[in-house]
Order: sequence, then C-alpha cells, then structure tokens
Amino acid sequence: MELNNNVYTIQGLKLTDIAEQFGTPVYVYDADKIAGQVQKLKDGFKGLNVKLKYAAKALTNLSILKLIRKQGCGLDVVSIQEAHLGIRAGFKPSEILFTPNSVAFSEIREAVELGLQINIDNISILEQFGNEYGGTKSCCIRLNPHIMAGGNNKISTGHIDSKFGISVYQMRHIERIVKACNMRINGLHVHTGSDILDPEVFLRGAEIIFESATHFPDLEFIDFGSGFKVAYKDDDITTDLQELGKKLGSAFKAFCKEYGRKLELWFEPGKFIVSESGYFLVRANTLKTTPATVFVGVDSGQNHLIRPMMYGAHHEIVNVSNTSGTKRVYTIVGYICETDTFGWDRQMHEVREGDILAIKNAGAYGFSMASNYNSRLRPAEVMVYKGEAKLIRQRETLDDLLRNQVEIEL
Ligand SMILES: *Cc1c(COP(=O)(O)O)cnc(C)c1O
Repeated sequence: MELNNNVYTIQGLKLTDIAEQFGTPVYVYDADKIAGQVQKLKDGFKGLNVKLKYAAKALTNLSILKLIRKQGCGLDVVSIQEAHLGIRAGFKPSEILFTPNSVAFSEIREAVELGLQINIDNISILEQFGNEYGGTKSCCIRLNPHIMAGGNNKISTGHIDSKFGISVYQMRHIERIVKACNMRINGLHVHTGSDILDPEVFLRGAEIIFESATHFPDLEFIDFGSGFKVAYKDDDITTDLQELGKKLGSAFKAFCKEYGRKLELWFEPGKFIVSESGYFLVRANTLKTTPATVFVGVDSGQNHLIRPMMYGAHHEIVNVSNTSGTKRVYTIVGYICETDTFGWDRQMHEVREGDILAIKNAGAYGFSMASNYNSRLRPAEVMVYKGEAKLIRQRETLDDLLRNQVEIEL
C-alpha cells in the first residue's frame, strides 16, 4: 500500500475504490508484495540448494496458492484438507510436505496415498509408519530441539513443554525404531516457533539438527521450518535474511561436506510471505465518546481477524478515507458481543462515520482464522493482480450459515 498525494493505493488502485466496489469488510491482497517476499527469501539464501515450502495455514485461498506456486514454492500443510487445496491449486503431491500433529494414523495413510512427503512428530506414529511401510516409503522426522524461541507462548513450539516434535533426547529410541523397521528417513525438520528475530536461534537449531543427522544416512533435505519475523510497525526490526543466509549458509555447507552429500535446505515460511501483502478494509459504523476514550465501532470483529484478541498482536490501522487533518486518539473496536478490540489508543486522522479503515498485516492468519461467531458472515477476499482488483472469494450469505444445518421436527 502506498500513500501518494494523500491517497492510499495498491498497484495504483485506490483502497477506497476497492472498498466501494467489493463492499466491506473485505480482505485485499497485493500479489506483487507476495512475489517480492518470495524473492527476498530467494536472494537471502542465494547459492544454496533452497526449497521454500509455503506454510499454507497462513492463507489458503486457492488463487493465493496458485500465485505462490508460480513463484516456484512448494507447500507445507498441516491437514489433509490443506493438502487437497494445494493439489487443487496445482502443486504436485511430491512438492507438498505434510506436517500434522495429533492426527490419527489413518490421516497419515491418506497422505501417503496422495503421494505427499510425510513429516512425523511422534514416536508412536513413527512406529506405526515403520510397521506399515518399512523401507518402502521414506519419511521426515520433526525433532524438538528444546529451544525457547518465538514471539509469545502461543506461537513458540520448540520449548520443553511443547507438544511438537520428537525430543532430541529420544534419539536412541528413534534409532531403534528406524533400525528395527528398516525405515528410510529422508529429512529432518525443526520448527521452533513464529516471530524469531535472532539468527542465532536458527543456528542453535541447526547445530542440534546437524549433530542428529549423523544418525541417518539417507537424508535428502534438512528443513528449518519458519519463524521469520515481519514488521508490524514502521520501526520494527525483522529477521535479517542476509545475515541469516550467510551464517546458516556457511554452517550448512560445512555440514554437507562432513555428511558427504549435498542436501537440500528447506524452509516453511507462512507469515513472511503473505502477512504484509494483506489489508483488511472495514468501515467505521459508529463513534462513541465515553469518559475514557473515543471508540470507533467498525463493521467487523474478532471473528474476522482474531490476532489482536488472541495473541495481543499489534496491527497498524490507518484511515484511508481521511489522510490529512487533525490526528486524534481512538480505540478501534468490533461488533462482537464480548471484548473485541482491534487497536487501543491509536492516533489516526480524524475518523468520521462511514470512513474506510485499513488494518495492516492482515495477509497471514487473518481470513484463515476467521469464523462465523455471532452468526456473522465471513468477508470477501480480493487480490490485486497485474493492476486489477479481482474477487477471489465471495462474501458469505445467510445460505452459507444454513448450509449444513439439519432441522428436525419438534
Ligand atoms: C505454522 C507453521 C509454519 C509457518 O510459520 P510462520 O510463522 O507463519 O512462518 C511453518 N511450519 C510449521 C510446521 C508450522 O506449523
């Protein structure tokens, strides 16, 4: 989104026009930004045998998946349904990594039948996989390196209390199962959490995984998961990809030499690729002055963008209908009947009823976490592609709320 002559635009299109054309609330994604983020990752890890597996759960719209596939990415999926969406968007099953947690073995079997690369994060599943497929199907192992990392408790996954991965301390047990079942382990994986700033965290994970790798002679790739931090505010620091690329790159090259074979280096960025591409446009319905503040009530709520209420996430909010004049302090709230705040104490150009507000960083974990709570309809999604705003998901209707309900005679 750019501000020129007091007008906010995406690829030259005015945000207020997009809101007018498609109505609000609406998620708007800038395809150029998505392509640019993928390019940044490619540049950061230049010269390495890198494969990017976009973490689909951040944003699963089919058109977005197609766009990301066109940038040369594979996919990381956490459910069989995400895998089906990926295949529908044109990804080859072999380009899709299946990283589930707490699923029944039947779902793993389904994924094997689809031809996905399986990532196993549980000793019991590893054993079942070995019993069923032996050496006929290879699989990756998700290790828990027990590193505390990530922006907050809900999104850090590698620490001691985490349910994710198989502990590196269980290596002897893993080895016994792999040997007994004659299994082929073709990848090792760590994903320590989201919003990791410090390249050192990746490097510590790398050291642990490189050491573990010596136990597995059939490796084809090492997957460092994700956690790349993006900017939520103008002055936010983000993961320094150049520094990370350099440090991790040289560590990886040294490891490959020792291992005796050139392996692929995988990453699974979700947020990094789509977060900043997305703007959630809402309309100011009401203004309410209380003894404490001025509330701006908008035509949406935490049912459409839950990150501020769920994670305390900060999303910048701008008034795209009024880009000059006095700045005032507002609290921006939604219409859900419980505490429902998008932003506290925000200085914004004066908000009038009917103004369009843009909530930033709405590409990742925005629509994909939206629900129908309060029987509200989920918003439309629009992608700005090659200078044109295209509808990529219709706004829901009352029929969508009723679709699967079964009314019984009473
Ligand atoms: C959620 C997740 C990701 C993506 O994390 P981001 O912070 O969005 O980049 C990658 N890998 C796995 C296994 C995940 O669960």
